[in-house]
Amino acid sequence: MEHLRAIGFDLFNTLITVEPQTMQQANERLVFALKQNGFAIEGERFNKAHREAAVQHLEECRKDGRETHNRFWISAALETCGYRVSPEDPRIAEAVEGYFSAFYDYSRIIPGATEMLGRVKESFRLGMLTNFTHGPAARKIIEQLGLEPFFDVILISGELGFRKPSPLVFQKLVDGLEIEKEELIYIGDDLEPDIIGAHSAGIQPIWFTFVRDHEIPFAAGILSPRTGTPDGGVPRISHWQELLALLGQA
Ligand SMILES: [Mg+2]
Repeated sequence: MEHLRAIGFDLFNTLITVEPQTMQQANERLVFALKQNGFAIEGERFNKAHREAAVQHLEECRKDGRETHNRFWISAALETCGYRVSPEDPRIAEAVEGYFSAFYDYSRIIPGATEMLGRVKESFRLGMLTNFTHGPAARKIIEQLGLEPFFDVILISGELGFRKPSPLVFQKLVDGLEIEKEELIYIGDDLEPDIIGAHSAGIQPIWFTFVRDHEIPFAAGILSPRTGTPDGGVPRISHWQELLALLGQA
């Protein structure tokens, strides 16, 4: 890896994780925010409709790589419950904020991540590329956990309009770091967005399996992750100390 000049990182289940109750809390807070604004919805029915709308939108996104946003899912779920509300309605914006407030409360740094970032920052340019629908929430989580100062570039799919595994977002990472793609490795936990995504963009992926290996109960994403294993050519690390060893910095 003598040509290596930069390292790209995924965020969720790579640098940080969320406590297991996060998704349930997020959904409860979403419903609460809507009820506060006068929507007489039944929580269970709304949540089911919301989840179905999210899955449908995310599956659409898989076709062309575009990112979606929570406001569309909430608007669709409200319609199922008898309310026609524009996705741009400020009451929906409040509900989005309510939903993500659970992430502000329950996001945690993965052990060793901060120390590792401090070490590798001495030798490499660092970039973050995360799939996250709502940019402001991702920015807030990153800042709250003290990750911001380590990175030369922080790219969030909700701000880019496209999400991993689209090659477009990996190219943004390469451009933002002002390097060639051969000078970059990309580290993430999820097969399709991170490993296949980076590889398809001509970037060397590294598979980070701390969460998987430690069977940390974690909040599943909307489309269930943690499926699939990269083929043998992809380096696998289970702990951040192993990255330092891989880079000859241990
Ligand atoms: Mg991840």
